[in-house]
Amino acid sequence: MKTLHTKFLRSATDAAHFPAPSAPEIAFLGRSNVGKSSLINALLGSKEARVSSTPGRTRAINFFALLDSPQSQQARMIFADLPGYGYAKISKSISAEWPKFIEPYLRERETLALCVCLVDSTIEPRASDAQLIEFLRHAARPFVIVATKADRLSGNGRAQAIRRMRAAFGDDGLLLVSAKTGAGMKELWAAIAAAAAMT
Ligand code: GDP
Repeated sequence: MKTLHTKFLRSATDAAHFPAPSAPEIAFLGRSNVGKSSLINALLGSKEARVSSTPGRTRAINFFALLDSPQSQQARMIFADLPGYGYAKISKSISAEWPKFIEPYLRERETLALCVCLVDSTIEPRASDAQLIEFLRHAARPFVIVATKADRLSGNGRAQAIRRMRAAFGDDGLLLVSAKTGAGMKELWAAIAAAAAMT
């Protein structure tokens, strides 16, 4: 993937403030601390996602346009960084914001091309991740399960983690990545580019 320029569009905490649908959108979802900011930064080769970690923006959907050049008016695609959801909370709603604007976003956003569901490969699968994936499956939204922090696993640990995650989340495509070493990032970009090209 050639270098794209990123431009922060806006933070939205309700559907009325989503940017008007335009380019294909790629949503990033995961529990807090899963490595979402690191992954987005690694994909973009920038510090853009760190902006979204500033107070006030962590409860919002943060939209970034990916442009061919800084002057470009037409985004190639838009990244939507969704709020990280809770740690040990096993509840029907992944967070308090879920019914307010996250669920409507995931269900209704017409330009949503792919949901990148991040799960931590170094911990036991969590019910909240399984709930989210089940929700997307049920809503017939395209998604890819991306297991983060692969660099922390040994060869054997990796095989075990993959088995564990397939059992918990289903047998859909599963990508193992590391923002630290770059492992799996090419494959993730390919999945994103393919999904964006299809919409
Ligand atoms: P977020 O809360 O999901 O945005 O997670 P962060 O990107 O802030 O990462 C959470 C923690 O995991 C930080 O301590 C990161 O350094 C660490 N981390 C993120 N990605 C990786 C990775 O690929 N490998 C390793 N070893 N650690 C990672």
